[in-house]
Amino acid sequence: MVISVLVEISFNNKEKTFDYLVPKNLEDKIEIGKRVLVPFGKQNLEGFIIDIKKNSEYDLKEITSIIDEEPILNEELLNLGKELKKDLVCNLISIYQAMLPSGYKASAKTNINVKKEKYVKLANIKEAQEFITTSKAQKQIEVVEDLLKNKISLKSKYQSNIIKVLKDKELVIEEEKEKYRLDNSYKIEPLLKLNEYQEGAINQIENSKKDVILLNGVTGSGKTEIYMHLINKQISLGKTAIMLVPEISLTPQIINRFKVHFGNKIAVFHSALSESEKYDEYRKIRRGEVSIVIGARSAIYAPLKNIGIIIIDEEHSSTYKQEHNPRYNAIDVAIIRGKYHNAKVVLGSATPQIESYARGKKGYYELVSLTKRANNASLPKVTIVDMKNEVKKGNSLFSEILIEKMREKLENNEQVILFLNRRGFSSYQLCSSCGEVIKCPNCDITLTYHKTSGMNRCHYCGYAEKKKDICPKCKNESLKDFGQGTEKVEEEIKKIFQSYRTVRMDIDTTTKKGAHEKIINSFLNHEYDILVGTQMIAKGLDFPLVSLVGVINADTILNFPDFRSSERTYQMLSQVSGRAGRGNIKGDVIIQTFNPDNYSIELSKTHNYVDFFNKEIKIRKDLKYPPYYFISLIKIGSKDYNLSLSESKKIANYIKENISEDMIVLGPSVAGVSRVNKIYYFQIIIKFRNKEKMREILNNVSDLENNNKVSISIDINPC
Ligand code: ADP
Ligand code: ZN
Repeated sequence: MVISVLVEISFNNKEKTFDYLVPKNLEDKIEIGKRVLVPFGKQNLEGFIIDIKKNSEYDLKEITSIIDEEPILNEELLNLGKELKKDLVCNLISIYQAMLPSGYKASAKTNINVKKEKYVKLANIKEAQEFITTSKAQKQIEVVEDLLKNKISLKSKYQSNIIKVLKDKELVIEEEKEKYRLDNSYKIEPLLKLNEYQEGAINQIENSKKDVILLNGVTGSGKTEIYMHLINKQISLGKTAIMLVPEISLTPQIINRFKVHFGNKIAVFHSALSESEKYDEYRKIRRGEVSIVIGARSAIYAPLKNIGIIIIDEEHSSTYKQEHNPRYNAIDVAIIRGKYHNAKVVLGSATPQIESYARGKKGYYELVSLTKRANNASLPKVTIVDMKNEVKKGNSLFSEILIEKMREKLENNEQVILFLNRRGFSSYQLCSSCGEVIKCPNCDITLTYHKTSGMNRCHYCGYAEKKKDICPKCKNESLKDFGQGTEKVEEEIKKIFQSYRTVRMDIDTTTKKGAHEKIINSFLNHEYDILVGTQMIAKGLDFPLVSLVGVINADTILNFPDFRSSERTYQMLSQVSGRAGRGNIKGDVIIQTFNPDNYSIELSKTHNYVDFFNKEIKIRKDLKYPPYYFISLIKIGSKDYNLSLSESKKIANYIKENISEDMIVLGPSVAGVSRVNKIYYFQIIIKFRNKEKMREILNNVSDLENNNKVSISIDINPC
């Protein structure tokens, strides 16, 4: 027998499969989709069996061993990989690897195994019954009686010396059983009864002829409840479901709602799970022991069979796009899998991506809207504060009205969330005599000062150094802290509201496993009055006692040089303000900004996404951005600045020579962050309408590059 193996090696980005001989004794274990180890040069490489042949005309080497007991990728996933490759300009094997949980990769040196537990049971019932009546050994009798009652029990339940005696007497035999590390057996609670709007939405979804549904519902409109009902329906039909959430560790509340309804039917993929736990969850799925998979981006590859529905919550979230190879977007993957299984794909959001909503309006997607909050809660009142006026009054961090409102709510025994988009104490150190800004030696980016550790840190490469006292350029002791971070806000708030309890949530306070959940739960239990945090607190959280959300600086995203910056700002503001007034108390939102007239800030006042969409879509059309044009981003990097630049020019010229009329090439230009980790980056942006033609050009670009001192990354549809 001969097999074709796709190995983990590539030549000039061209994929290679190699044929190998299978020794006779392994032949009946060979199946497409299993991984094997094969000799390659002097080493052994891992590869996927992608074809089985009778024989070959060449003289072949034998495979070394078979890695998997069962095929790790089924036919659907193998074909899905080929389909995705067309749009991703990367190696097929890297796509296959991305489909597996990290512990499955050959490169992962962790020692993952199946956890086993020892059980005991009776060897023979008759003999056991006889033993109870004849024996005088009371302790042994008790064990045998217990086993007569329970049939099989954990060995650890009994004294080991007694079990040993009973084993010697051949009354009891031992058995090992697999144990999953995570147990999702919860007390099951029924689903909520849906309100009429939710019912209407479900009817529209279930009766739709379209493959993809866009569920556009304001924050708190009860989308999660709708997801659960939709899934419930599919389960009752004997089907399975995938539900994606942006970052699972940030959404413990949603996960919990699912667990108390679906219990052991769920497998959860959590970034905080250990490799072994992931391995167990994955096996549960492969064996068909669960019918619902909840997880972040990569859970879209869950090897479920018979999928009935795929749900993507907060579909606008950029976390669904992988930012390194393979640069897949989980929504695209969902749509392909949905087609295969004849399952609907439901995209949910209060603030959908502009492209998604445009597709909904055009009728490519079924557009379902919910404009009211579920439990009769009203949407919060939003006030926009012009910080230019506040700075004149000497209030650089907090406006008068924010402090006033905070006091009012806190005195009422209600809770407050303060949101800002930066962690750390102050954004950077700046010299007030010469204007020098302290930057990372590896990257073209300012260092962020962290007060707790007294360090300046680079948020790109992780570089850290002690805070500087003297300006490295003019040698004066005139360095000042500029900007504002979560740590600074926390410190100032603690000074102003001394008698209230403040907690901070950002990457720095949540590095330990379970830290997110701990902060969220203690805030939920009203152990704190004020929560200061970054994006992390914007997503999906439901705190009934929060009646005020303050956005310290709404401009941080707006100032990014990116065509999505308005969209991102609007989404962020809606998400954050969605945390206010979810319970019985009315909510207030205060947005501090230096750009009060910007439409993405101004329109967040009315909670009307459609107004924002209508404004934004015009701009996209005028400036030739998505959804009118596709965009691709090519990044060229090298430690050698001149080489990076000359390669970029070479690539840009190639593209310009080959483009068709409806394509626009911009660049090469210096990348947004021009130097990261001592590598100089240039970028080329291509706007285009014809995907097929673009694919061809981009594939050629990736072949063009054969200098190993230069790296190229190609991102079709960057997020
Ligand atoms: P979304 O996901 O759209 O932000 P949620 O599903 O989290 O909204 O619902 C918001 C709140 O309303 C939650 O506290 C939820 O328990 C409640 N809720 C949702 N649907 C119903 C319903 N049909 N009856 C009562 N309460 C509901
Ligand atoms: Zn750096």
